[in-house]
Amino acid sequence: MSIKRSVNIACPTCGVTQDITLVEVLNAQTDPDLKEALMHNQLNRVNCADCDFDFRVDLPMLYTDAKAELMIHWVPENETTTREQILEEFEEAIERMNAEAGEELPMPNVRLVMSRVELVELIYLVESGMNQRVVEYVKYSIYTRNREKLNPESNRLLLNVEDSTEDELLFVVQDVEDKQLGQVLRYGRSAYTSLLELFKEDSEEFMEMFPGPCISARDLLLEESDEL
Ligand SMILES: [Zn+2]
Repeated sequence: MSIKRSVNIACPTCGVTQDITLVEVLNAQTDPDLKEALMHNQLNRVNCADCDFDFRVDLPMLYTDAKAELMIHWVPENETTTREQILEEFEEAIERMNAEAGEELPMPNVRLVMSRVELVELIYLVESGMNQRVVEYVKYSIYTRNREKLNPESNRLLLNVEDSTEDELLFVVQDVEDKQLGQVLRYGRSAYTSLLELFKEDSEEFMEMFPGPCISARDLLLEESDEL
């Protein structure tokens, strides 16, 4: 079952407030219509009763799909909540869980994303049977090989699962600021397949690079540049 909650939201254009119902926990198995809405950017949208302005409300949401063994926590990054804070709070929540249980629990298989595009990308990726850590490894090498054109500060690299072919994986560059999609980068699927073989033989390097819950080449690159 999905869980909804009622919130009082002010229209960003005219300021008039209204009570709206938002999805807080989305269960893709029991509510496929809500999943459809999410994939088409129609979830948690509000139409202002006063000025007719249409806008999306981004609040933390948990996406679950028991059949796909998928649990993704989407915590929107914004001016007041930075990536560092989100990661810290997530770690604290895990620590509290461990403290309550009185033992070190295995890390729950929850993924953490900070934008809707990453959430949708991850759903497609897992449903198509791809390995998220290997995909992020590929992204990492694309970033580092194209330092002049691709800056992790301002560019996000997204895998377009739907338009990828048997031979090529299609990545699209998104501008983090204005959310516009730009250049398309192609990557041979055979190279991905070789990396996947490597992962199956010995996943240690991949796990060290991307321990989770936030499995993201961009995050790793931003962390690395902070350390310099
Ligand atoms: Zn309005």
